[in-house]
Amino acid sequence: MLEPLTAKRVRLVGLDVDGVLTDAGVYVGIVSGKPAELKRFDIQDGIGIHLMRIAGLKVVLVSGRLSEATRLYAEEWGVDDLAQDDRGRKLSAFERLLLKFGVRMEDAAFMGDDLPDVPVLRRVGLPVAVANATPDVMGIVQHVTAAAGGHGAVREFVEELLRARGQWESVLQTYFEQRGDRSPRIGRAITR
Ligand SMILES: [Mg+2]
Repeated sequence: MLEPLTAKRVRLVGLDVDGVLTDAGVYVGIVSGKPAELKRFDIQDGIGIHLMRIAGLKVVLVSGRLSEATRLYAEEWGVDDLAQDDRGRKLSAFERLLLKFGVRMEDAAFMGDDLPDVPVLRRVGLPVAVANATPDVMGIVQHVTAAAGGHGAVREFVEELLRARGQWESVLQTYFEQRGDRSPRIGRAITR
């Protein structure tokens, strides 16, 4: 359970990619004669990212690897920014993003799973780990999801965060309105 006061301070959510938005697996091979890298992303996490942006939160992806698959994912789901640092320096990359969006470290959340995330997790106001994060990560976070990376962990955190902020119902209403859909619970309110 997230503390409402902590949740309400968050203005920006940073997500590690490999091991948080994916199960950390990477398919490496040759496609049409060229080296290719494929990853499996969970669509429920993607919708979670969309819900955070409806809620007015900035969402950034921070990866310690250069990956075309990650770039395509960021483009498809419309995150506010993506930082890929091929030397794995996530803290400086994340600090640049905070500066760009005018957000203080203590007003940011970050989700990670492994050692490269530790420098960022030690600094942010709300450090979060996925269920299968490594012990060093588990030891420094405030919140651990029940779901593992790549299996809905981001979506689970998004729902907890928005509920703790008192925004869940209104965000869902906007989500369905934007789609022109009627939801089972609030459909009549939308169509009349
Ligand atoms: Mg990772």
